[in-house]
Amino acid sequence: EALGPTITVGEILVEIMATTVGTGFLEPQSLAGPYPSGAPAIFIDQVARMGGAAAIIAGVGDDDFGRLNVDRLRQDGVDVSAIAIHEDWPTGSAFVRYRPDGARDFVFNIARSAAGQIGLTSAAEALVRRAGHVHVMGTALTIPGAREVILYAVETVQARGGSVSLDPNLRKELLTDDGALDSFNQVLATADLLLPSGEELFTAAGRADEAAAVAKLLESGMGEIVLKRGEQGASFFGRGLPRIDCAAFTVDEVDPTGAGDCFGAAYLTCRRKGMAPDAALLHANAAGARNVTRLGPMEGVSTLAELTTFIVETPRR
Ligand code: ATP
Ligand code: MG
Repeated sequence: EALGPTITVGEILVEIMATTVGTGFLEPQSLAGPYPSGAPAIFIDQVARMGGAAAIIAGVGDDDFGRLNVDRLRQDGVDVSAIAIHEDWPTGSAFVRYRPDGARDFVFNIARSAAGQIGLTSAAEALVRRAGHVHVMGTALTIPGAREVILYAVETVQARGGSVSLDPNLRKELLTDDGALDSFNQVLATADLLLPSGEELFTAAGRADEAAAVAKLLESGMGEIVLKRGEQGASFFGRGLPRIDCAAFTVDEVDPTGAGDCFGAAYLTCRRKGMAPDAALLHANAAGARNVTRLGPMEGVSTLAELTTFIVETPRR
């Protein structure tokens, strides 16, 4: 951590969620929100809440949706100096509804929102030059401006001895052009830590079974892979290290959105603070589990003290 803060680049959104389970938004219905959201924003908020130095390169509109987010991030200790405030673009948004099988439908406004205007401002440039780690969210690679900043940040931070993590997190609704996939493969080739969930591991490796996918990525130079398995917990794979499995904590899932982001942030922050992989994995599991107990993607972020208590008090599956 001495090298500089953990930074990320990408969408800050408000999330507005359906209060009922069902398919999509084709009829009037009741909604809850706005909640602060956006995968990179949730991630960086969780880093800061744990006491990690944290900053985000992003954009919001000059509106309440933007203020709601920036106030939360600032209050939780995130450096907000590289969040641009755009007068002519509204803050991005995501409407989400859960289907009976747990799958989600989204209506996103990202490309034509302030989040779609991300670029290398002088504040962003200054931040990149003093950063020690870049976390890349797959969602952000679908924003052309953010993509350029991310590739620049990855190169710059690695050149000064910093590290890079990647959460593939690619949503079907957001994959609209080849640029996202090309830049994804570029980041994948140099990342030190990969944080996939479900099918993302297979897609990233181009292999259809878990062991083969893990072996392929470790052989290609990835240092650590931490696989998220939802209510099945998570697993760690490191080059030359024994595999570690971590059972999930037993919690009542109220809202799964944001679990993966909190998990990744907790894992990375623990590792950057010098914790061993098994302890980092346990804290990450706790951060993911705590997050799903709260409605709203960023409402369940945890301090290190909250994680410690949760780990002691909560049974595991
Ligand atoms: P998202 O992209 O929606 O944020 P994800 O698919 O990246 O999520 P998940 O695997 O759903 O990530 O969740 C991340 C971690 O959080 C899991 O590996 C697990 O440790 C914890 N977690 C998630 N859901 C639950 C649950 N229902 N019970 C206990 N732990 C959970
Ligand atoms: Mg995810």
